[in-house]
Amino acid sequence: MSAGAFYESVHGYFDRAAAYSRFEPGILKQVKDCNAVYRMKFPVRNDDGSVRVVEAFRAEHSFHRLPTKGGIRFSRMVSLNETIALAALMTYKCALVGVPFGGAKGGVKISPAQESEGFRERVTRRYTAELIRKNFIGPDIDVPAPDYGTGEQEMGWIVDTYKNIRMNEPNIYACVTGKPLAMQGIPGRTQATGQGVYFGLRSCLDQAEVAKKLGLTPGLAGKRVILQGLGKVGFHAAKHLQEDGRALIVGVSEQEGGVYNADGLDVVALLRHRQETGSILGFPGTESVDRGALLEFSCDILIPAALENQITAKNAERIQAKVIAEAANGPVDQAGDTILCRRGCLVIPDLFLNAGGVTVSYFEWLKNRAGVSFDRMISRHEELSNRHMLAAMETLTGQQLPGSDRDRLIHGPDELRLVVSALEQTMTRAYERIHEVWLQRDLPDLRTAAFLLAIERVAESYSHHGIFP
Ligand code: NAD
Repeated sequence: MSAGAFYESVHGYFDRAAAYSRFEPGILKQVKDCNAVYRMKFPVRNDDGSVRVVEAFRAEHSFHRLPTKGGIRFSRMVSLNETIALAALMTYKCALVGVPFGGAKGGVKISPAQESEGFRERVTRRYTAELIRKNFIGPDIDVPAPDYGTGEQEMGWIVDTYKNIRMNEPNIYACVTGKPLAMQGIPGRTQATGQGVYFGLRSCLDQAEVAKKLGLTPGLAGKRVILQGLGKVGFHAAKHLQEDGRALIVGVSEQEGGVYNADGLDVVALLRHRQETGSILGFPGTESVDRGALLEFSCDILIPAALENQITAKNAERIQAKVIAEAANGPVDQAGDTILCRRGCLVIPDLFLNAGGVTVSYFEWLKNRAGVSFDRMISRHEELSNRHMLAAMETLTGQQLPGSDRDRLIHGPDELRLVVSALEQTMTRAYERIHEVWLQRDLPDLRTAAFLLAIERVAESYSHHGIFP
């Protein structure tokens, strides 16, 4: 399946939702079209001293808010159309969860797993230098983050390169998010997208009428889950579903194949097994299965958390899951979506479900601009007022709380707790709003409701900004 199909699907979803919009066609076209693209080729030295030409992209989809924001993907499948489609999803995602950024995305056409760390570092630094040269990166311009095939390490190289070229600029650490903690990152960013998937799924399945329509009991406890892709997003989504939601992870697939156990498996131990052996296959207590076939196994929730176009007209009829939770971007193409919806499956769309990453990235960016961590500003104040309140309660009742309860009540929140509670609130509120629009405007599905909400928010802003003559 080509990147063209993904690009067509994103535009198709847009058009389907835009048909319900009150905005004029010109404004809607401005919301839909990608505003700027930088396509580059640059030479990088291989480890043996020879030279390789690397192709890369950065797409800035919408300038209705600045900076633009979006991850950088390292994959041999990267293409211009894929990057533009991903950038468009970022615009809608930010609008949906109230993050005041335009959408962007970067893509570098390499296979990171097959490259040395040295080569990845040279590519990342050169790519950053190219972005700086063309003004496609900066705290107020365009702020990258991790995506498929990249992580904290690459973000660290980006900020270091930026710092060394633009050393006199203010707020330089805000030029990229998803950085290591030691380089002004924020706790909770690594797990944010996966944890947001958990909060989003929980908000949806806690709705009694939604669960009933699917023939499920409300809530996540005991639900059978199959996961595709044990990467950053997939692993943390499954871990939170298992630990906080008490769901049962019955199957997981990776590039090398799938593993299955109808009674559930421990994803934390499974990841450790993969790190030790290089494969999820052979994980004790599981049977090995074909990775494509696993998507069609019986389960309540299927979580595609790898790449786009995994559920299409080719396999949608055979999917048995009642809920498809789009942790990845674009895992269901438009033809697949039509079939799933006709069969009564609930698709929880990517632009909502994986927005936890950009939400916490926004907190990181704010923290970098303020130059102070969130807990530092409020924890001392909270601790003092908690102490006063507790002392007053103890005087009034003449009793003392046990030591551990006292400590818990007195201490103000740490930065991680602040981040997680803000993420939880963002995902819960966003779901409530999408759900409301879905019902109130009698829309066919959640995806159309999410797209419509996002489109109208971006269009609203364009119509207020005015258009340059
Ligand atoms: P990642 O590179 O950390 O993990 C992806 C995993 O999927 C890898 O382990 C890879 O081996 C596996 N995989 C690839 N093809 C597969 C296949 N056919 N079957 C099974 N497994 C396969 O990437 P990630 O950051 O977790 O991103 C995953 C998806 O989530 C992407 O679509 C990305 O755009 C989206 N996303 C990521 C973030 C983020 O913060 N990282 C935020 C929003 C959306």
